[in-house]
Amino acid sequence: MDRWLQGQTILVTGASGGIGAAIVERLAAEGARPIIHFSRDKAGAKALLARIGGHGWIIQADLSTPEGPFELWRRTVEVAGRVNGLVNNAGIRTEVPIELSAADWRAAWQKEFQINFFAAADLSRDAILHFKANGGGRIVNIASRAGQRGYAADAMPYGATKAALVNLTKSIARSFGGEGVTAVAIAPGWVRTDMAEDFIAAHGKAAAVADIPIGEMAAPSEVAELVAFVLRPSQASLNGATLDVNGGSYIR
Ligand code: NAD
Repeated sequence: MDRWLQGQTILVTGASGGIGAAIVERLAAEGARPIIHFSRDKAGAKALLARIGGHGWIIQADLSTPEGPFELWRRTVEVAGRVNGLVNNAGIRTEVPIELSAADWRAAWQKEFQINFFAAADLSRDAILHFKANGGGRIVNIASRAGQRGYAADAMPYGATKAALVNLTKSIARSFGGEGVTAVAIAPGWVRTDMAEDFIAAHGKAAAVADIPIGEMAAPSEVAELVAFVLRPSQASLNGATLDVNGGSYIR
């Protein structure tokens, strides 16, 4: 495989499994040294590091706490030195029916915004400061089709957090492009991971693929390939875009 990302050091959040692990494998295959962030699955993170020949690092952090994202960036720079890219991939999708008690409803919205959006915003802040001081860098935010077209009655926070992430991406692109900091959002429809399996267990596969013209969910490797492409230094003008990976289920 061509080593388009040779010498690049890139932090991937939520990387022990699913889309994040596929991103790490692809980045490594193209020559990058990934920093594998994980929350609970240390064994998964260690196995992933072994699969990429040990050419990277693993760091634990809980992004549901206010200090978690800042601590993660601090330790990332501590182990890796110069960082070239940040992939905000960690995310949760919670079932939050409106019949929940007001306290539970509010707690679910706050947790989902903390992990899916505020952690990404905090990491982006620290990354932008680092990139500005060190010759530039790139941020890739894993958003969702849910953030573009609105979302299901039982999971409204998810769509709202992803819409916010798309907007943050655009603001970074407009604000810091002149200082060598660029940002791109990727908006997948359903991707075959644990998150999709949870939905299939509750609602059935037909419900997931019914409105996808190609009739199938995306593979994690499809998203990973696109992330690696976006991170190529040669893609200087790819800034502020939201790239759809949804089988034609939402066309703008
Ligand atoms: P996943 O559940 O396999 O992975 C989510 C990751 O987020 C995990 O590694 C987990 O450790 C991490 N995470 C969760 N809570 C955390 C916390 N408190 N602190 C730190 N990390 C935490 O799901 P996935 O499908 O691989 O999702 C990856 C990204 O892709 C998410 O942002 C998700 O919203 C997005 N996405 C997924 C789909 C899909 O259909 N699977 C579609 C569109 C977008």
